[in-house]
Amino acid sequence: MAGRGYDREEALRKMTRLMMQGAVMLGETCPLDGLPLFRLKSGEVVCPVHGRVLIVSTDEEAREAEIEGIIREVRYRAARNVLESLEEGDPKRIKEWLDVIESTERILSLRKPLESREEGEARSKAGKK
Ligand SMILES: [Zn+2]
Repeated sequence: MAGRGYDREEALRKMTRLMMQGAVMLGETCPLDGLPLFRLKSGEVVCPVHGRVLIVSTDEEAREAEIEGIIREVRYRAARNVLESLEEGDPKRIKEWLDVIESTERILSLRKPLESREEGEARSKAGKK
């Protein structure tokens, strides 16, 4: 495809060379051209066209942290609304806000750090024997 800012054949050649050097193709893509990123044996993450790309993982981490912050904020406000509804004597609204809290807590429990998620998987695999 022309006009994407890189020569496709040249990019494929570079990708092949990276893999021959033992680089691992990652799930993430370069934000500039959408090509898959590669992790070199040295640990560096590179785009076959642009070379070193360091921003991607930290940007993603920052966004993930922001999402978690928003969900915690929703949970906090919902909890305050439960109190308000309690004072108003509105059991239907109390139930609705409790449902919101329950949803946020489910989301937060699914978003545990990677290590504990892997631990959980290992445990469930061990249990399957
Ligand atoms: Zn790139």
